[in-house]
Amino acid sequence: LAQLFRPLDLLGMVYRTIRQGVIDMGSMFDLIDTPSEVVDAPGATALVVDRGHIRFEDVRFGYDDPEHGGREILKGIDLNIPAGHTLAVVGPSGAGKSTLARLMYRFYDLTGGRITIDDQDIAQVTQASLRAAIGIVPQDTVLFNDTIGYNIAYGREGADQQQIETAARGAAIAGFIESQSEGYQTRVGERGLKLSGGEKQRVAIARTLLKNPPILILDEATSALDSRTEGEIQDTLEAISARRTTIVIAHRLSTVVNADEIVVLEAGQVVERGNHAKLLRKGGLYAEMWNRQAQERADEDGVMAAE
Ligand code: ATP
Repeated sequence: LAQLFRPLDLLGMVYRTIRQGVIDMGSMFDLIDTPSEVVDAPGATALVVDRGHIRFEDVRFGYDDPEHGGREILKGIDLNIPAGHTLAVVGPSGAGKSTLARLMYRFYDLTGGRITIDDQDIAQVTQASLRAAIGIVPQDTVLFNDTIGYNIAYGREGADQQQIETAARGAAIAGFIESQSEGYQTRVGERGLKLSGGEKQRVAIARTLLKNPPILILDEATSALDSRTEGEIQDTLEAISARRTTIVIAHRLSTVVNADEIVVLEAGQVVERGNHAKLLRKGGLYAEMWNRQAQERADEDGVMAAE
């Protein structure tokens, strides 16, 4: 009987997850891979964010993945992100960076330790209140086959046209929208206007501005944006993360130089932490990654200059 109900459970979970707005989280939260549903603790109360101080205390986690023997992915992570600060998480592929962000949003429960926001354990508050407090700008934004206005308004139920336009201006996409013959009524997605990677990311930023959360998670796009677009998006992201506690999952180190703290994750452990200058002086993994990426940038510029 349990076998019979499993697919129904899964469907229910997918529906609830979509309803809660998780669909726009792109590759960060892969619904199909989600092994079990996280439920509210009995008597869970609403999260109250007054400052937005985040702590990870000895956080441990492994995916319930029989193929890999349930191996531990995060092996005791301690983080302290004071209200309004930006923490950047860097490290090799597979180190566990995106997993940290998924746990913050409580997509999975921890196997050890705890995560708190303003001293409240996120496992003890309602998921709805937790997710309302966190805005995510994902790597790949999923757009609905609807108008561009609808796609932005999705950030906040009942948003009016003026609020949508203010958010679009904040995300520096208002000019682009206004240049379309149907403006905010222009249809996008498979059956409408195709947006570039950078434009889609701006829609995600506009949604987040409408939501106006005290906490932000930015999952930096790995997909190639041209360097001008990348720089402009970076400026917009820096502007929206000012005054908000922000976690940036960074793939390009050039974008983390201004972070208050950078943690280098390797195989599920923090191996270095500090600001950019301190980590460069240390001459460890961060410095090595920085030098390699600087060399790659120089090579690219060389290729471009030669062309
Ligand atoms: P990248 O820079 O490539 O995005 P990352 O540091 O963000 O990597 P994670 O996505 O957090 O890494 O993955 C950490 C480890 O967890 C990897 O070994 C990955 O294979 C594994 N993993 C990720 N998602 C799942 C899942 N749903 N089920 C099982 N294992 C997973």
